[in-house]
Amino acid sequence: MAVVEVQCPACRSREVVRYGRQANGEQRYRCNNVACERSIFLGRYRKIGRLPEVKQQMVDMALNGSGIRDTARVLGVSPMTVISTLKKKRSRSTK
Ligand SMILES: [Zn+2]
Repeated sequence: MAVVEVQCPACRSREVVRYGRQANGEQRYRCNNVACERSIFLGRYRKIGRLPEVKQQMVDMALNGSGIRDTARVLGVSPMTVISTLKKKRSRSTK
């Protein structure tokens, strides 16, 4: 199991692993701290926008005609994150 850069909101532990997804695509996480009461929480955190797979999803959704706000809402990131990600992708792929 891979440890990701997410902090548990209950105990502040960084020993957190991905734990599947909600039906709406929202990432769930599980806290590995045995003393933690909360254990499972949703990944609505800014850092999720830095994950490569989320960036790829942003690009895919944009190509499929989803708006910036729709993309941001579905992926649980801010609209600014989507905009900056798409700009970076575009400048990298065009020469
Ligand atoms: Zn915890």
